[in-house]
Parts: sequence; structure tokens; C-alpha cells
Amino acid sequence: MPIVEIDNITKRFGSNQVLNGISLSVERGQVVAIIGRSGSGKSTMLRCINGLESIDSGSITVAGHKLTNKHEHLIELRKDVGMVFQHYNLFPHLTVEENIMLSPRIVKKTATETARETAIKVLKQVGLDHKRDAYPEQLSGGQQQRVAIARSLAMEPQVMLFDEVTSALDPELTAEVLKVMEELARGGMTMLLVTHEMEFARRVADLTVFMHQGKVWEARPSQEFFADPQTPEAKQFIGAGA
Ligand code: ADP
Ligand code: MG
Repeated sequence: MPIVEIDNITKRFGSNQVLNGISLSVERGQVVAIIGRSGSGKSTMLRCINGLESIDSGSITVAGHKLTNKHEHLIELRKDVGMVFQHYNLFPHLTVEENIMLSPRIVKKTATETARETAIKVLKQVGLDHKRDAYPEQLSGGQQQRVAIARSLAMEPQVMLFDEVTSALDPELTAEVLKVMEELARGGMTMLLVTHEMEFARRVADLTVFMHQGKVWEARPSQEFFADPQTPEAKQFIGAGA
């Protein structure tokens, strides 16, 4: 059974039809890259998957949670679906470790010491266990983004969503964040990532989804897609170096 099942969803903002009948099925452990021009609906689709936006029609089932246009179980959903954004939004007045412990303690009611152990574990995963007691402003952008990933991992999600998490970073810092994401992928995490990193998508993602005008224009195994995109729109997008 797929862990993410998106069935013919639509979403409009006012008169702007942003998602135009999107269907997508993701198996457990799959890595899916979502690419496409600015405004094609990539972020909106991700935000619908964890209930940050409601859908107008269609259905989404993710990690056993069925979302309709009524969101009643958002808290339960978000325990299982982690999301990382371009801007990491760490709390500046909390240390790295405190930032990571916050959600498990508040949302999951995890005991402080258990939350701390988890924080140390996930910080090791992103290579930052030596920065436990640092404050966000003492870290580079890449390190802050790795903390944001660790914070999401601390909730032990079944699915992780990444929305252009390296877009604000210099190439060097981008590389260190992508490395962490690649390790997560290799470790079997189910991941949907909106990215401009075509080489990463080609190499790491099992499936690449090209979105255009609020539709899944092409969705194919990444190697095949990048070797030979089928639609003129995808050809042009890839050709333009995205
Ligand atoms: P992408 O991530 O592919 O660049 P988005 O999903 O962010 O695309 O946006 C798709 C379209 O939806 C754009 O035209 C954008 O202006 C519009 N949009 C996104 N979020 C909102 C919102 N909260 N209110 C109104 N319009 C929005
Ligand atoms: Mg976007």
C-alpha cells in the first residue's frame, strides 16, 4: 500500500486554479523529486500533504491519515509527516538542543530526558552533535538548515517533505545539506522534495515529478526522465538549466 496517495486533488486561491487534478502515489521508502517552474504549484501541493493548505476536492491519504477538505486530525497527521522549509525558523533564544526538544515535548508529551536523548541522536545524524549548546545565530546557514532537519527527525516522521531547503544557501552549504538528505534517503526515509538541484534529483530521487500549470505533467523514474523528457515543457525546463 502506498504511504502517500494523492487522488485528483484541486486547489484554488480566488480565481487562480493552482492545483488542477493532481494524482500521485508514493511507496514507503521512495524518494520523489518535484520540479517545475515557479508558480506551477509545487509548494502548494506539499503544503496540502501535511494540511497546511486545505484541498477543494479529491483526497490525500498519508501515513494512514485521510485528509479531506476538513482537517480534523492535523496534530496526529503532523506527528507522522515532517516538513522542512527554505527558511529554517529556528527559535533564536533557544539552543540547538532546546529547539529540537520542543516539539517532542509539547506535541508528543515526551519526557525531557527522552527528548534530550532523541535530540542527541538526530544531531548525530546530521553531523552536529558538537553544536548542541550553540544558539542558531552562531551557526552557518547550512548548519541551521541541518538543525531544522534534525528537529523534524526528532518527531520520528514516516514521511518527510522538503520545500527548496537549499535555495537560500551558497553552493558549499548546499552540498552539506544535500549530503544529509542523501543519507536520509539511503536510510530508507520516504521523502518528497521540491528542488532546483537537478543533479541531486537525477541521482538520488527514485521518481521525478515535473509539474506544470498545476498538473503532474510528467512523473517517471528519475534516470529515465532526465535522459529523455517526453514533453516539450519538461525538455525546455531542463534545457534551460532550471
Ligand atoms: P511553486 O512552489 O511551484 O512556485 P506555489 O505553489 O507557491 O508554486 O504557487 C502556485 C500559485 O499559487 C502561484 O500563482 C501563487 O501565487 C499562488 N499562491 C500560493 N499560495 C497562495 C496563497 N496563500 N494565497 C494566494 N495565492 C497563493
Ligand atoms: Mg515553491
